[in-house]
Amino acid sequence: MADSSFSRRGVFGGAAVLGAALTGNAQAQAAPLHWDRETDVIVVGSGAAGLPAAIAARQSGARVILVEAEKDIGGHAICSGGNIPLGGGTSAQKKYGIEDSADLVFRDLTDWSVVEPNGAADYRYNDREIIRAFADNSAATFEWLVAQGVMFADKAPDNAAATSTGNSAPREMHPMNGTWPMVQTGKPAVQPTSISGNGLMRPLEAAARKADVEILLEHRMIALHQNPRTKRVEGIAVHSPKGVTNIRARKAVILATGGSTGNVNFRRIFDVRLTEEYCGLAGMPWSNQDASGELAAMEIGASLWGTYNQTGEFGEHLSKPGYIGCQYGYWHLQWMPGSRVFDKARASGLHVTDWQDVILVNMLGKRFYDETGGYYTSNSYHAVENYLPNDYRNAKNVKYNPINFLNAAMAGIGDGKNGGGPIWAVFDADAVAREKWNPAPPNVDIAEGFFFSADTIPDLARKIQMQHQRVAMPPENLGATIARYNGFVDSGIDEDFGRPKPQHKIATPPFYAAWATPVIHDTRAGLRINADCQVMNTSGQVIAGLYCGGESAGGFSLHGLARCVAQGRIAGLRAAAETSI
Ligand SMILES: Cc1cc2nc3c(=O)[nH]c(=O)nc-3n(C[C@H](O)[C@H](O)[C@H](O)COP(=O)(O)OP(=O)(O)OC[C@H]3O[C@@H](n4cnc5c(N)ncnc54)[C@H](O)[C@@H]3O)c2cc1C
Repeated sequence: MADSSFSRRGVFGGAAVLGAALTGNAQAQAAPLHWDRETDVIVVGSGAAGLPAAIAARQSGARVILVEAEKDIGGHAICSGGNIPLGGGTSAQKKYGIEDSADLVFRDLTDWSVVEPNGAADYRYNDREIIRAFADNSAATFEWLVAQGVMFADKAPDNAAATSTGNSAPREMHPMNGTWPMVQTGKPAVQPTSISGNGLMRPLEAAARKADVEILLEHRMIALHQNPRTKRVEGIAVHSPKGVTNIRARKAVILATGGSTGNVNFRRIFDVRLTEEYCGLAGMPWSNQDASGELAAMEIGASLWGTYNQTGEFGEHLSKPGYIGCQYGYWHLQWMPGSRVFDKARASGLHVTDWQDVILVNMLGKRFYDETGGYYTSNSYHAVENYLPNDYRNAKNVKYNPINFLNAAMAGIGDGKNGGGPIWAVFDADAVAREKWNPAPPNVDIAEGFFFSADTIPDLARKIQMQHQRVAMPPENLGATIARYNGFVDSGIDEDFGRPKPQHKIATPPFYAAWATPVIHDTRAGLRINADCQVMNTSGQVIAGLYCGGESAGGFSLHGLARCVAQGRIAGLRAAAETSI
């Protein structure tokens, strides 16, 4: 491929480049650029936004190269539950007599008056232009998925796992796994009809390959190339096992990199509390959300957008762990030894079926909240009783009830530092028997310090040492906490945190401490885009040749797959329609 005469943005050449680009420290440097490859549309990322973008662009006649950083496709989407709320009058909604329309979707997802029991607003800060585009494309996106070979369970749309999907109609659909090996286990689902993200992403992968999308695995985009004269984005630099190469896009680059919550400095833009110890991102270690798309775009002037949607305390962007004693303990996702990423996950975790079986303590060995408390909630179909669209009475009628353990867990220990530090679930041998746990590897991660045991409480406290435990746990604190808690079991009243009827003493050795720190889930704020998914700069101008969809795009508070798939498809269609350079 010939050298082009224009200069490039960023420094390209080896491992230092990767670090520079991802930390946002790349310097502008003028030098002739050698294009190693060329295509019409480049898609970055093969998750819920990326594969639809690539297929839509290819089916519109564009040549497409999709680069994916990991060894396999799918991103968080393939790890997901697959539940996808697409409404607005889908064929499935019509089949089951559910009335919905694009206008109803738009009204729901822009209703300022819908708030959570803690006062956080689900939809108030949504960008109307972006929501309109989603509403207008929602039903078409569902039909398009069916046309690509995604098999949905034949049942009425519901709100089974929905978060922030709108009050007026059930919209959620559920793709079936089929016979594909699940990423979590390496084996097929127990029933092919089981619902999973596999059932969404493997058919899309097959459709992409059939359409002749060129998928380059282990190719991590490290920077965007912008023509300094025209300001058009004309390609990317990628790092692969073969080194750094430059790929030219004659029409456009689509960022579908999946958000930013795996990047500590980036996520702290939205919530200063989210320091390093929140290392249990859902969807990792299959893929990371390292903000590489956002950072590369911000290097060339892109704006962030709708940041409240990340900071606001609603939905599943932070959750209580479902699995304890391991690093990656998101409540829906258990890594098993057959998974191809189990070497990175290291342990499956112990599933907590009854939070009465443990107490939760902070770094100092002190309880801080009612362990049975939940986490942030969100509104979906029929969540608001006597719903009156856009009426102040919706907010007024919500009963204030900020019951979640997250804010208390992240409050810290008053040492002047940000971040709540590790949260430990402490329990005894009787709890192990009740929960039917086997507290040994590969169920728990002893080697990396996510699980400890000892025959006495003071010894347990002394053993708790790992990178995120920034102060030693005073043994006398943990002893006093457990003695006081056992007293609450005798009296039946938790005088400190109001846990309902404390049930089990912690008294039978051995004693255990299992990692139970909050888990970060999804990204709801990212790059500013317009209705066509074009990325915009801080002056509100379109950055020519650059598109974005999914969790890396901002302005839209809706958990998960629906907005990602819809935006990916929009971006693919629009990018393919660009005039070639
Ligand atoms: C356990 C779990 C359960 C979930 N369940 C549901 C559910 O039931 N319903 C729902 O609606 N949502 C669910 N979600 C959320 C949903 O999966 C995500 O919102 C969605 O997958 C995000 O799509 P995306 O395309 O933006 O990112 P992803 O699907 O994460 O894809 C991003 C891809 O980009 C790649 N990438 C990143 N940076 C680069 C780079 N620099 N170069 C090349 N490639 C790069 C990543 O490796 C990844 O493959 C769940 C998520 C998880 C983790």
